[in-house]
Amino acid sequence: MDLGIAGRVALVTAASKGLGRATALTLAAEGAAVVICARGVDALEATARDIDAAGGTVLAIESDVTDPDAPRLLVDAAVEAFGRLDIVVANAGGPPAGRALDVDDRALEDAFNANMVTSARLVREAVPHLRVNGWGRICLITSVSVRQPIPDLALSNVARTGLWAWAKTAAQELIADGITLNLACPGFHATDRVIQLGHTATRLGDPADFGKVVAFLCSEPASFISGVALGIDGAAVAGLL
Ligand code: NAP
Repeated sequence: MDLGIAGRVALVTAASKGLGRATALTLAAEGAAVVICARGVDALEATARDIDAAGGTVLAIESDVTDPDAPRLLVDAAVEAFGRLDIVVANAGGPPAGRALDVDDRALEDAFNANMVTSARLVREAVPHLRVNGWGRICLITSVSVRQPIPDLALSNVARTGLWAWAKTAAQELIADGITLNLACPGFHATDRVIQLGHTATRLGDPADFGKVVAFLCSEPASFISGVALGIDGAAVAGLL
């Protein structure tokens, strides 16, 4: 199937490793020019080299996406480098583990900022450029916790459900302009984060497959899929994540 995104310009944040990296690799393989960011330069440059070696077009920018200015600077850099922006995949590092009654105000605020406010901010910065094109695809990488809280990830549960509520509302305001807005909600995949968290008891998803699902949500034929929180979770249910 032709995803119809060759020549499009995509911004994928937090994309030097894991799910963001896999998404950027797939979008680039489908012919989109990709702008990627992360804080650590070594892994970021390694991912950029991999995209380049595979024949893709990439711009790598060292950036902490939770910095309030970062979304605007990243969007501006994409438009300056490639003349347009069509696809936005909003990702950020996940919050620390913690049970609901153990997390303090500061931890709640940090998680809400990193995994809710930052993504909404990035979408707001990008939308004017997508509207100019009359076409856009936005995908927010969240978590299966949007639908089923994970007991030891209370901070993630809070931020992801807040973002889902915001996104479902925003999607209605975008569809008339040819812009879709969806959530990709991973269950546990084999990435550094999941191995660090020790969530390795059950079958893990392949990040490369996850990237392909996100690329489909960002594709031409996915034009009527919007306001969806798509679980990519291997049939996970409570207690069996
Ligand atoms: P990962 O393997 O740890 O990779 C995280 C990536 O994000 C790295 O490239 C990291 O690079 C970058 N990053 C982290 N914080 C950043 C920031 N503030 N600004 C810019 N880049 C940042 O994580 P992952 O497993 O792919 O998870 C990605 C997201 O999906 C997380 O929010 C995670 O909670 C969520 N999620 C993952 C799974 C899973 O199974 N993997 C399941 C549910 C939810 P630097 O550290 O160098 O910045």
